[in-house]
Amino acid sequence: MSASVIDGKHFAEGLRARIAEHVKRLKSAHDITPGLAVVIVGHDSASQIYVANKAKQTAEVGMASFKHELPVDVPEQELLDLIEQLNTNDRVHGILVQMPLPDHIDPNKVINAISPAKDVDCFTPANVGKLTIGLPGPVSCTPLGCLMLLRDHLGTLSGLDAVIVGRSNLVGKPMAQLLLRDNCTVTMAHSRTRDLPEVVRRADIVIAAVGRPQMIRGDWIKPGAVVIDVGINRIPAPERGEGKTRLVGDVDYVPATQSAGAITPVPGGVGPMTIACLLANTVTTASLINGLVPPS
Ligand code: NDP
Repeated sequence: MSASVIDGKHFAEGLRARIAEHVKRLKSAHDITPGLAVVIVGHDSASQIYVANKAKQTAEVGMASFKHELPVDVPEQELLDLIEQLNTNDRVHGILVQMPLPDHIDPNKVINAISPAKDVDCFTPANVGKLTIGLPGPVSCTPLGCLMLLRDHLGTLSGLDAVIVGRSNLVGKPMAQLLLRDNCTVTMAHSRTRDLPEVVRRADIVIAAVGRPQMIRGDWIKPGAVVIDVGINRIPAPERGEGKTRLVGDVDYVPATQSAGAITPVPGGVGPMTIACLLANTVTTASLINGLVPPS
């Protein structure tokens, strides 16, 4: 069997086009321009590229984009004060603070300072709680992107066995909530799970969010399973020349394609969905802040 490839890049393009339509409607019918503020501390080059990409895509869908760059040694209180200003700024509907933060800043303090109404990453305890009990609000971006790809590929997920490898607050835990909502039977695996290969072999849906290159082997995948690879890992690629690297996921891709029914590639799978879902969340928060029903 050779798996079909789930093209996240293509799906994300379509999603951004739909978001642009919602933005147009919010502007014309309600005079609202959704605005996303991104705060970056320091000059980490990967974060800079990621933030530049977010700003570009925000502008492309017609939203307002606000970028705040702070020096790496900015006092914690100064960052908290900026967040408070953004909380009360009517033009800002989403606030994203790029992680990781320098060691002298407590990320929990920063997350808790963000108004839940503008928490487009769905990091605040209030929004995590809403997600858990199924109230409307922003949904963690990467898991939301995975869910969209799964629904698009499978239609209904009801009754399927889903195994999530990784239990982070960023990916694994919110992913479990979303799959439960869609009536999957969810298993969460982690570093203490016994006999991980056997656990993964039960799954109709495998979500790999571990951060270990190609750890999930091809022969762990049940024939026909749908595999969503969240991992982004850079490994040496001497075949491309000295010192060259390439990106791989947490799944050993080529062998996995022999048994999976469908699989996301890395790059070009989940990655492009994350930013698109951030924009979708900004439309959601802009709608809710203004007493409107967010687009489904
Ligand atoms: P974390 O490091 O926060 O969590 C990793 C999880 O994997 C932990 O729950 C850990 O278990 C588990 N784990 C580690 N080793 C093993 C093992 N040998 N067997 C089973 N489970 C194991 O990572 P994130 O969730 O933040 O990210 C995961 C990956 O996804 C990374 O590659 C990251 O770069 C990528 N990512 C991609 C995004 C995208 O847009 N595509 C967005 C966010 C992340 P334990 O809890 O027991 O320690």
